[in-house]
Amino acid sequence: MIAREDLAEIISGYDPSRLTIGTIGSHSALNIFKGAKEEGFRTVCICEEDDAIVYERFPLADEVIIVEDPSEILEEGVQERLRGMNAVLVPHGSFTAYISAERLADELRVPMFGNRHLLRWEVSRVSQEEWLRRAGLRLPRSFKGPEEIDRPIIAKLPGARGGRGYFIANSPESFHRRVGEMIGRGLLEEGDLERIHLQEYVLGVNVYPHYFSSIIRGEVELLGFDKRYESSVDAIGRIPAREQLEADIAPTYTIVGNIPITLRESLLPEFLRMGDAVQRAAKELAPPGIIGPFCLETIVTEDLEIFAFEISARIVAGTNVEIGTSPYAYLKHGEWMYTGRRIALEIKEALREGRLREVLT
Ligand code: AMP
Repeated sequence: MIAREDLAEIISGYDPSRLTIGTIGSHSALNIFKGAKEEGFRTVCICEEDDAIVYERFPLADEVIIVEDPSEILEEGVQERLRGMNAVLVPHGSFTAYISAERLADELRVPMFGNRHLLRWEVSRVSQEEWLRRAGLRLPRSFKGPEEIDRPIIAKLPGARGGRGYFIANSPESFHRRVGEMIGRGLLEEGDLERIHLQEYVLGVNVYPHYFSSIIRGEVELLGFDKRYESSVDAIGRIPAREQLEADIAPTYTIVGNIPITLRESLLPEFLRMGDAVQRAAKELAPPGIIGPFCLETIVTEDLEIFAFEISARIVAGTNVEIGTSPYAYLKHGEWMYTGRRIALEIKEALREGRLREVLT
């Protein structure tokens, strides 16, 4: 882990009146850049040649650094360029997808907006669960092995992109049968079986709340909700049941987009308390806890019970549905506000109060 003093030295070498907000060109980069521009910052995009068209057509990045692979952000030359621009990096899902949490924590000597000490809590399901339990949230039950299965479960592979290879079973027998089928189809390998996570399947609808933990204002804000549009699971409902059976479909959860949600108001108290509780637990894990955006993945059942099954301690792509505003951001801020802009506003307020060090790690 990069020493606090090293980082402090880098930050003290920065010209605070000329900060540049930077990120990798994918995921929620447009959201972050637009917010930064609206709050008066310069922006830098580190991106692959193929993706550069996005930042040409939506010209929100003042500088574009072309790389062959996002992990090049760790190369000394790139880091030096970034520091030369007084860059503050905003991590999103592509950071840990392309670069390991350890390398990000140890080798990236450019200040990050957010708490990089929490990155390692986010990358494994086991530590995520511990975090959510500490916060007192309701979690789906986990099963140690297939012989314990006594109800519908979802079997998840670690780090599975888009839930490819996830499957549902409701008994040890159906589990083994499904495993055989999945291996036959090349969706699963023998070796995966040890790492498979068996979780109670919760029947309900997905709700992903977006929060913002403001260190400067000392409050967790609720900025919006989304649900996901996933292929192929969102497609099978369009096929009659008989044909589904005949086609023998194994649905996957490849994310294609996000859909905004407005929640019934009676669910807001619990979602608000959940955000506070997650931040309280995060403070114990790695003070000062979450700095900036975070999101929970939840399922709400027909009894209006909320089950949380994942946490992202950073901006999530679901907040892209709110670029401009969301009902909740509007209720809170009464102006054009969204996660990308909220990040820039937090940095601006930190600068104004001489507290920049508190929001960077
Ligand atoms: P994940 O990879 O954990 O984000 O999950 C991918 C998809 O699986 C999401 O659409 C979730 O709704 C669904 N899912 C994950 N865990 C559960 C669960 N315990 N019960 C029901 N659905 C789940």
